Amino acid sequence: MGLVISTYHGDEETLAGIDDSLQERLGGGPPLSCGMRGGLGGIAIYAASRYRTNPALGDAVVRQLDLRAVRQNRTLSWPISAEYARQQSLDVLAEPIYQPGMAHGHAGILAGLTAMANAGHAHARDLLEPSLNWLRDMAALGDDDNRFAWAFFGDFESGQRKRLNVNTWCTGDPGVLIASFWAQHVLEKRMSGWVADLADRVAREIGAGRRAGMADRIDLCCGMSSVGNICLRLFEQTAEAIFHQAALRCFADAEGARSTLQSNGLQYGRAGVSLALRSLESGASRKWDRFFGMSLPDV
Ligand SMILES: [Zn+2]
Repeated sequence: MGLVISTYHGDEETLAGIDDSLQERLGGGPPLSCGMRGGLGGIAIYAASRYRTNPALGDAVVRQLDLRAVRQNRTLSWPISAEYARQQSLDVLAEPIYQPGMAHGHAGILAGLTAMANAGHAHARDLLEPSLNWLRDMAALGDDDNRFAWAFFGDFESGQRKRLNVNTWCTGDPGVLIASFWAQHVLEKRMSGWVADLADRVAREIGAGRRAGMADRIDLCCGMSSVGNICLRLFEQTAEAIFHQAALRCFADAEGARSTLQSNGLQYGRAGVSLALRSLESGASRKWDRFFGMSLPDV
């Protein structure tokens, strides 16, 4: 909510109140989850939009992410809670649990740190490369058609894996791709290495007819509209036609299935799909997609 207000409204008194309650929450109470949806990663995106006005909020959230990180072989990662895993109907086989995805896992945390680094937070910037290194190592462990839609239980090299929603924003390769793209963009202004390979494969496969999102889903979470928007963002940033073709394919399929949507909401319903489909119109406001880590907040 704070990010919506800071993006579209900007009432300083309201925002200062939101800042205060977040800082109070960061200062005490049960530990927050680290992920983007309802956790520190999401707060970091909001804090980036407020960094010029209130650097203390950004400092507090980056400090917590830094303290919660697990450091190993020049990588950083963040275990997710067993409670989250149970909510996803995953049997908790062993802790720690790691998940690369955007909504509740590593990529969403990376999106928060990237937003903070882009806002000028030097320590958040220092955390980007080791955080990207963890995803690079995960990519090497995944299947050819699914690098990231997994939850890992126990030690991630010898532990067990559960398959999540493949080729989605929330848990799959496209979400990890856009988070990693923006992290590289902030660090070195260009896409390279495994991120460029992942981008090429995601777009090429969708262009060749692979379904984006889960079967029967066109929403911004597990559906194809978010994947279309990710491809469109990559096209805008790279001017490579392959991303435009993939985006058009996703949006055409989503348009065709629009009447099947049951919910009206942003993440799962009509409002979100309508915003995504409007993205193709020139001059359409695209600020909404920062709420999903698909673009960077204004700083
Ligand atoms: Zn989802």
